[in-house]
Amino acid sequence: MLLNRTKDGEHSEPDPLNGTPADHFGVGGASSNVSKTLEIKVEAPHVFRTPEKMEFLVAALITVCVLVSRTDGGETSADWCYHLPKCSDATWPYTATKYCAGKRQSPINIDSSAAEADCSLTAFSFVNFDNKFSLKSITNTGRTVKVGFYRGVKISGGGLSEEYDSLQFHLHWGNGFAVPGSEHTVDRKRYPMELHIVSMKSSYNGNISLAVADSTGLAVLGFFIDVRASGPASEPASWTKLTSYLSKIPTKGDMAGIAPGISLDELLEGVDRTKYYRYLGSLTTPMCNEAVVWTVFKEPIQISRELVSFFLFFWELNSDLCCITKRGTLH
Ligand SMILES: [Zn+2]
Repeated sequence: MLLNRTKDGEHSEPDPLNGTPADHFGVGGASSNVSKTLEIKVEAPHVFRTPEKMEFLVAALITVCVLVSRTDGGETSADWCYHLPKCSDATWPYTATKYCAGKRQSPINIDSSAAEADCSLTAFSFVNFDNKFSLKSITNTGRTVKVGFYRGVKISGGGLSEEYDSLQFHLHWGNGFAVPGSEHTVDRKRYPMELHIVSMKSSYNGNISLAVADSTGLAVLGFFIDVRASGPASEPASWTKLTSYLSKIPTKGDMAGIAPGISLDELLEGVDRTKYYRYLGSLTTPMCNEAVVWTVFKEPIQISRELVSFFLFFWELNSDLCCITKRGTLH
């Protein structure tokens, strides 16, 4: 997932859902000048279940041992990237050590055979996911495509401790069909794309500094995106509409308003949202704050190969864009 600093004024317009602006921003982090060697053992316990059918599902258990020797520094301004050797994810534990070298880092590979049923994980409640006025803008951040929401989109239930305000979703994709781009994997399977809906505890009222300092301050819903077998004739219209906006944001920093007519429910069509995996993790990019309750849904969104191709083509046009974060999933 990505948290990006919001451009000034991005949410200055009246909010059709409740009349107030909504949004988010940059992630801070304390600096440290400590040099040390750490042995890091990552054990991310993960649970998955289907609340209504009481079948269970997942808990991924991943154990990764790394020996890290590094010098902390620059925690608030790590110069990171996806693709260049000097700043790719292999360097993040060294350049953003405070969290990226942590013990509950995301993404992970979910080992479905190790998942444990957890009946405390109830069904989610989704507020304004059916609202066709909830999507506000689409932005080329230089690293992903982000869709901002108007205030009033919320999630609760699903084993979350309280209600969370949903702020934005963004997408991760690969480099051509030969290099799929989902961040999480299940039993080592990597999907062509992954969609992340980012939410923050409502009690923080949009204060990202407070949220990233809380081990459960953020909740991210992760949806895999797969290529549907039936082709574009049966394409969900919502995805066709959404993809049409890519041509309006060809360069980093470009933003376009989204016309009413697309709902989150439509974009998530076909996914049984009672079947998911749960684990506690982190932001998947620097500063890698370990503040995320992850929910990764078992069933993928399915869109046509043609629409997936739009994103791959978009990547070709924008070499800095997206988004193959394989850290933690290659072991
Ligand atoms: Zn993401």
